[in-house]
Amino acid sequence: MLCTFIGKVQSTARFVDRNICNTMRLKIINGTIITPYRYIRNGTVWVENGIIIGIETRDVDFPGADVIDAEGHYVAPGFIDLHIHGGGGHDFMDGSVEAFLKIAETHAQYGTTAMVPTTLTAEKEDLLETLDFYEKANAANANGAQFLGMHLEGPYFALGQRGAQDPRYIRNPDPKEYEEVLAYSNSITRWSAAPELPGAIDFGKRLKQKGILAAVAHTDAIYEDVLEAFENGYTLATHLYSAMSGVTRRNAFRYAGTIESAFLLDMDVEIIADGVHLPAPLLKLIYKIKGPDRIALITDAMRAAGMPEGESTLGSLKNGLKVIVEDGVAKLPDRTSFAGSVSTADRLVRAMVNMADVSLLDAVRMATATPARIMGVHDRKGTLVAGKDADIVIFDADIRIQRTIIKGKTIYLNAIPQI
Ligand SMILES: [Zn+2]
Repeated sequence: MLCTFIGKVQSTARFVDRNICNTMRLKIINGTIITPYRYIRNGTVWVENGIIIGIETRDVDFPGADVIDAEGHYVAPGFIDLHIHGGGGHDFMDGSVEAFLKIAETHAQYGTTAMVPTTLTAEKEDLLETLDFYEKANAANANGAQFLGMHLEGPYFALGQRGAQDPRYIRNPDPKEYEEVLAYSNSITRWSAAPELPGAIDFGKRLKQKGILAAVAHTDAIYEDVLEAFENGYTLATHLYSAMSGVTRRNAFRYAGTIESAFLLDMDVEIIADGVHLPAPLLKLIYKIKGPDRIALITDAMRAAGMPEGESTLGSLKNGLKVIVEDGVAKLPDRTSFAGSVSTADRLVRAMVNMADVSLLDAVRMATATPARIMGVHDRKGTLVAGKDADIVIFDADIRIQRTIIKGKTIYLNAIPQI
């Protein structure tokens, strides 16, 4: 039987009622599957109870299954965004469950099926409150990208590399503070810090012990700092090139910075591949050096992602920074600096293909399999193989999202399919 369309389509968001195409068995036919290690043309994906149970190179009978006709489009794993602050007019630090859910729903329209909600540098109380909202939102999240735990971006950063982080809240790692935060919540899966700060190595060791991904970020570190950090838990570079040191000179001698260290060490890197933050030559350079298995594409999106251009606010509505969104990026009102990304995941893949001349397979891999591995969820997400969650995105040749499926359920549909 065909997966018929019988439910509601909201005129603006166009979310599909979850009861549709929601039976236990599903098969997706007539698509070019991106596993993402190879193409399977005219392939079929079988799903049962939200789990992929097989990928076939032909259409096969699957009794009782709903059928989704991919109409010749690409069928890929859902995108996994390791670093995201907001979208659809909301920020994860707005202090509401609704903000979490709306952000998850907004980005699902652009192919994201899993994300790591990210905080900004803030007072401890605000961070704890955001962790509370995370837990409530995670339990209520039925129509959006799934949450993979929280990413705390800061507050242990180098003041000189703060970027758009509020300098009032930047400080050195303090075991009294971070132990309290770690004891407060089990939902932290990632934490970004500057490794050269006093106490940062002990902090990294502690995160590693807790199974939390530590990342170097907003940092003035030189190679010696990054090497020690890498040996003590920091295995990822947060938004490579943004808010981090390159080569510096001290008393005439040159020192390799965080960027060069990330290239030299077997470190993972994430990049804001919106086509604005990093120009084409840098996208190509990073890809050439690190390759698709070490690069995760991230949006680092603020609240204006998925919204019309114009005025917006970076950070919380209470005390955030007024910004202007134009040219596909948020800028400070005087236009001297970027003030956040408004990217969505489809745009990242598009930029890697169109600007960095990367193959579609590798671009998808950097948005799926690699971030899944970095985040430690590759046993259940990131590739289309039997046994993994049926988190699937269907997109056309321009990487425009046609359908987003999470755990076998269609949560976004671009157009009413044929009945
Ligand atoms: Zn960020």
